[in-house]
Amino acid sequence: MKKLALHWQILLGMIAGVLFGILFSNFEFGPGFIRDWIKPLGTIFISLLKLIAIPLIIVSLVKGISDLQDISKFSKIGGRTVLIYILTTVIAISIGLLLVNIIQPGNSIGAETLEELTQTYGGDAEKKVSSAQNQQTKGPLQFVVDMVPQNFFQAASDNGKMLQVIFFTIFFGISLLLVRKEDGAPIKSLFDGLNEVVLKMVDLIMLIAPFAVFALLASLVVETSNPELFKALFQYALTVVGGLLIMLLVYLFAVKMFTGKSPRFFLNGISPAQLLAFSTSSSAATLPVTMERVEEHLGVEKEVASFVCPVGATINMDGTSLYQAVAAVFICQALSFELTFSDQLTIILTATLASIGSAAVPGAGMVMLVIVLEAIGLPAEKLAVGLAMIFAVDRPLDMCRTAINVSGDATVSMIVAKSIGKLGEPARKDWDDNYNS
Ligand code: ASP
Repeated sequence: MKKLALHWQILLGMIAGVLFGILFSNFEFGPGFIRDWIKPLGTIFISLLKLIAIPLIIVSLVKGISDLQDISKFSKIGGRTVLIYILTTVIAISIGLLLVNIIQPGNSIGAETLEELTQTYGGDAEKKVSSAQNQQTKGPLQFVVDMVPQNFFQAASDNGKMLQVIFFTIFFGISLLLVRKEDGAPIKSLFDGLNEVVLKMVDLIMLIAPFAVFALLASLVVETSNPELFKALFQYALTVVGGLLIMLLVYLFAVKMFTGKSPRFFLNGISPAQLLAFSTSSSAATLPVTMERVEEHLGVEKEVASFVCPVGATINMDGTSLYQAVAAVFICQALSFELTFSDQLTIILTATLASIGSAAVPGAGMVMLVIVLEAIGLPAEKLAVGLAMIFAVDRPLDMCRTAINVSGDATVSMIVAKSIGKLGEPARKDWDDNYNS
């Protein structure tokens, strides 16, 4: 029997999880049962992905750089990557701004709904504001300072310090390129071997993916509250999702235009990572799968994928920045806070920076939204109300924007790879043997 492609398996797991969650919400014992007996599988799966992330970044980045043979190629990849990342982020924010100004979802929120939303989510909103304040006390160059670790082991023991690990590994990889070939050879072959082993570990973890997303979505359904308030924010949510879909089209178009690969090829290759991003709301947790798909199924060579994907997971968040633009303007519309044209430009600038600064974990985009709102001068009391207002739908939107964040990283990997002749035919077609470009 022909094996069902992985993305279909994951999709079926997701649908079954939602249905199971809805069904079990009707029984008194249901939520408890799901929390105690189903959710742990999802939690273990996310832990496994996080567990493999740092080893994967280290071995594949060292292998990637040492395969390059010379440093000028590396700086070429680095320069292009950062440039294209910034460009895609600005495009995403502009799409968000355009849509939210045309649709004006904020004008449909009545005073009563506003009151209700504020009361329900006021406390949660305050937590986000105080997390954002911690971020803000830092100076403008703190981001660069933070990239250089004082102790490698400390950096490697915290998944939130991915950029520090990347910094050390690039430093190590470049030094490996600079030593005499015969001196570096044993290290190189050690990393080549380690790389195979770590990739196999990713494969093995992915075997439970369909069951894990079942568990994740079933528990999400029973934990979600207040469907009424959900409806009040429908237009806003639709604006964000519409913008994200347009962004996906932009990626498909860019992939076709710059690499010649068809949308079907791209989606077949990357969809398991997109679905996983959707289920986990974390581009960091999805990273091992993104890297594997980009390399083995989209044909991006290791030296590009091993750099572009981890850097993208931490700094390139097109979905998040688009969401921040829509949310910021939506809040201002609903609270009757006039925005000038220069305020909208401020949104483009701060949302670009905020998405670079957002951690690749669930809910991070909302914390950084505070910074965007403060930059346009929204008073503190309105800010808290504004955040409380959008809380009810934040999780589903987080799922969607994370899927777009991951798609953006894959797109840029392909474009950078093509531009330096490192985009080949995918090595693996085991799950999806029916795609052609
Ligand atoms: N959850 C998103 C990510 O990991 C970040 C965010 O928008 O909250 O990519």
